[in-house]
Amino acid sequence: MTVQIDLSDKTALVMGVANARSLGWAIAEQLLSAGCRVGFSYQGERLKSELDKLLTGREGVWAQQADATSEADLTALFARVKEEFGHLDYLIHSIAFAPRTAMDGRFLDTTEADWNTALNVSAYTLVSTARHAEPLLRPGASIVSLTYHASQKVVPKYNVMGVAKAALEATTRYLASEMGAAGVRVNTISAGPMRTIAARSIPGFGSMFEKAAEAAPLGRNATPDEVGKLALFLLSDLGSGVTGQTVYVDAGSSIMAMKIEQPS
Ligand code: NAP
Repeated sequence: MTVQIDLSDKTALVMGVANARSLGWAIAEQLLSAGCRVGFSYQGERLKSELDKLLTGREGVWAQQADATSEADLTALFARVKEEFGHLDYLIHSIAFAPRTAMDGRFLDTTEADWNTALNVSAYTLVSTARHAEPLLRPGASIVSLTYHASQKVVPKYNVMGVAKAALEATTRYLASEMGAAGVRVNTISAGPMRTIAARSIPGFGSMFEKAAEAAPLGRNATPDEVGKLALFLLSDLGSGVTGQTVYVDAGSSIMAMKIEQPS
């Protein structure tokens, strides 16, 4: 379903589209349908062909390589945003990474190197990209990132990524408190489990996906399309009074302490 809203005078940068299943792409689809001009960044040339396929035939879109942990790449990326758009209305941070070694074993055995990588890529890059974007953001601008409920409750094997998501959610609040004076809003979307490349790297994701659907009041998992619609709300003027929040789109699974079968 496409929400009818006109964003033809708006510009957006979406960071973190690996393929058509990416949550970043679900958000981009909503923005593009609303007429928004959208630029994309991708981490490595390996993914360029996937993104090229998605962007073929679309007008006014562009893509640039940028490792979000590289200051030089971010400087070049936001120079491109300035050149293409002159200003930026929406920044979408859809990036996370933790080394497999940090998720395969015990949380107790997390190495300093894996901790630093996970927190750097998955949380600090929200700070650095927001700082690079700041000079280009107009009043009414909005930043959205993606988080997961393992920040609040223990999800086995999510390990250091749960800590990184907790940092991302706190980062959202601190950025929102500082950027509000300039009329900029910052929120994070807590999505339920969805079958993406990043999700496939989480040990036991299949059973996490099934259990979340069973527990959810809606009896299913939320979809990437529903993430896109929530992002559209938070980014656009529809969400003009919302900032600093972690907003859930998970078919309600996070509200359940336990699920008990009711006798029929
Ligand atoms: P995805 O399609 O794999 O997207 C993750 C993106 O992050 C990839 O494009 C990846 O690029 C990029 N990335 C990783 N390290 C980067 C770096 N240093 N610089 C720039 N880009 C980098 O998976 P996704 O599920 O849509 O993930 C998007 C966001 O949603 C993440 O924050 C994730 O934690 C969050 N989320 C996902 C779920 C879920 O179940 N799927 C649930 C809740 C929240 P490479 O492929 O090149 O590494």
